Amino acid sequence: MAYVISDSCVSCGTCEPECPVGAISQGDSQFVIDAGACVSCGTCAGVCPTGAISEE
Ligand code: SF4
Ligand code: SF4
Repeated sequence: MAYVISDSCVSCGTCEPECPVGAISQGDSQFVIDAGACVSCGTCAGVCPTGAISEE
């Protein structure tokens, strides 16, 4: 299962460069994860200051 970003995201951008496959990008109102690219490594969830990222 891919990881997902909830509406707790404050668009700080910390997670984007940490993703090894470039699956995270800035969306319209918050950052988003491309479910098709995510390999569920969990790295992004560990660096998010608001705990907005979790496994779907
Ligand atoms: S779980 Fe890993 S592969 Fe998926 S978006 Fe987060 S850092 Fe990228
Ligand atoms: S680290 Fe968390 S709060 Fe920051 S952009 Fe990523 S999901 Fe949003």
